[in-house]
Formats: sequence, C-alpha cells, structure tokens
Amino acid sequence: MGTPGYTPKRAATDPLYGKVASVVPEIEWPVFAPDVAAINALKREKNAVILAHNYMTPEIFHCVADFVGDSLQLAREAAKTNAKIIVQAGVHFMAETSKILCPDKTVLIPDPLAGCSLAASITGADVRLLKQKYPGLPVVTYVNTSADVKAESDVCCTSSNAVAVVEDIAREKGVDTVIMIPDEYLAQNVAKQTDVKVITWKGRCEVHERFTAADIRAFRDAHPGVVVLAHPECPPEVVAAADFAGSTSAMSNYVGKHRPARVVMVTECSMSDNVAVEHPDIEFVRPCNLCPHMKRITLPKILHSLQTLTHEVRVDPEIAARARVSIDRMLAVRPLARLAAA
Ligand code: SF4
Repeated sequence: MGTPGYTPKRAATDPLYGKVASVVPEIEWPVFAPDVAAINALKREKNAVILAHNYMTPEIFHCVADFVGDSLQLAREAAKTNAKIIVQAGVHFMAETSKILCPDKTVLIPDPLAGCSLAASITGADVRLLKQKYPGLPVVTYVNTSADVKAESDVCCTSSNAVAVVEDIAREKGVDTVIMIPDEYLAQNVAKQTDVKVITWKGRCEVHERFTAADIRAFRDAHPGVVVLAHPECPPEVVAAADFAGSTSAMSNYVGKHRPARVVMVTECSMSDNVAVEHPDIEFVRPCNLCPHMKRITLPKILHSLQTLTHEVRVDPEIAARARVSIDRMLAVRPLARLAAA
C-alpha cells in the first residue's frame, strides 16, 4: 500500500486489512490499524477475548473479534471460554448475559450507554404484573432484556430459537398459550409458525420497526431478482413480503447455502458489510437502518476498555442466579428440524 504514514507496525496488520478491503476504504485503514494492532496485543497479554455481535462494524467484526455471531452464539461462546476477561462488543444486555453465564470472569463493555430499545421497554416489575394477570402461563423472554426481566421469566429465547423455545415450554407446562416478551413483532412472527397462542408486550426494536412492506416493494422494483432476507424483529407485513426471515445467523447461513446473485438484508447496516466480506461474488443491496446503540462500540473504546479494565458489568448474584435458570433452559432447547433446515 502506498498510503502516507505507512510503518512496519502497520505492516503487521496488512493481512487483516486484506480481509476487509472490499468494505473498508484503503484511506481509512491507517486510522484503524494502530488500534487493531494494540487491541490484539493486549488481548494476548491479558488473556481476554472479544465477543462481537453481527452488527459490529467490519474492522471490529473481522479484525479484533475472537468470536462472532448472534446473541445465542455469543451466549454459547461466553459459557465455554477459558479467558479471564470477556470484552462484549455489543450492547449492555449481551454483556449482562455473559456475566450471568460467567460469574467468575471479568466482563467489560466498552460503552456502558450501549442500550437497546427492547431492553428498555420492560422491567422486572412489569413481568410480575403480567404473571399476576395471566396466572399459570409461562413467560418466554427474548434475550434482549435486562437481567431482572430474565430473572422473572421461565425461559429465554433468541430470534434463532424462539419457535422451538415456545413449543418446548408450552409442552412442558401443558398449556396452549405463552406470554412472550418484550418484542411485539417477534412474538407475532413466531405466532404465525406455531399452534401455541402468544400473548405479547408492546416492545419494539427501533431499528427494525422502521422497515415497511413498501420498502420491500421498492427494493424489488429497483433491483430485479433481488432475494429479500428480513429479521423477525421487523413488522409482520415486512416478514410476509420477504423471501426468508431469520436471525442474523440464519440470514448469513442462507446466503452461504443458497448463494443468491443479488440479495438485500433487511436489518442493521453492518450486517451486510460483514457477510459481503465472505461472499465477494454476491451483489449486496445495502439500504439499512443503523442501530445507534451498537454503533457506540468503536475500536478506540475497545482499546480503552482493555487498557483500563472498564466498564465492568456486574449483576446482583441473587438476580443472576434466577436469570441463569431461564438462560440455561434456553441453551438446552434443541432447534426444530423444520426450521434448522431452512
Ligand atoms: S438493533 Fe434493535 S434489538 Fe438490536 S440492540 Fe439495536 S435497538 Fe436493540
């Protein structure tokens, strides 16, 4: 590379730049390279791992992360890691989940203000009121919630396993209805795939609720033949207008398996960039909505987090113990064969 300021230290990061060259302009790499090098050195020195959600920007996702994926995959990796320190490149509820699964490890979030509109939509007290209103019905809680909400729940779910979890808990409790919180749209989309009746809450993802069925028609008009993949946090009419709906991991797997010539991922902006890196021959149409919470996590903040061991995420042990029961129950549920094959 002929960029001014090129140094031997930067040369060490060239192979990493090779991974993201299709989505990170060469002129930006000198800004990222020193932080990438410093973060990767500090991880080794401090026995730390970085868990990065699919919505992280490519220089985080491909250049400093040790494990990447959706909430479910990151929770599984957190439960397995031998590292002393976990840096959660994601939002706060994900870091809480890691702390609940790994109470003896130091769990850091690079920006403690990285929240989530779904997690902010409901409290543990709200769940207790729901249980009073619907006695005997199990509570299925999306992982995008705080620890005190998980602690009041029977089982957690993610968008990749929600149908399986709903059917599993309904069977176990011998009921035909479950309470599913807090994402109204995810609950409605799940209800369409099962005979179990679902009582919902009014939470919404501020990123996915903005997509409309008219957007999908516009993508198809402007990009003939495009395959539309939508996240189930989108409104049901968006999911109905898409060719496939699934979690971020399911969307990524769909692209790898079906290899559409042209695809649009109806979800957060960075997702397409991260998947496109793996499939340079596929055309990605990239209209998208940014998650302002995910975008609080940057390379400089990750570096600062590792240097200073901040911001440490703590969960009240009594709440953590009860929340862990609902997370462990989720991790034990097997995916449904009819959905795993999608
Ligand atoms: S994309 Fe939506 S669900 Fe995910 S963290 Fe952002 S606001 Fe929450």
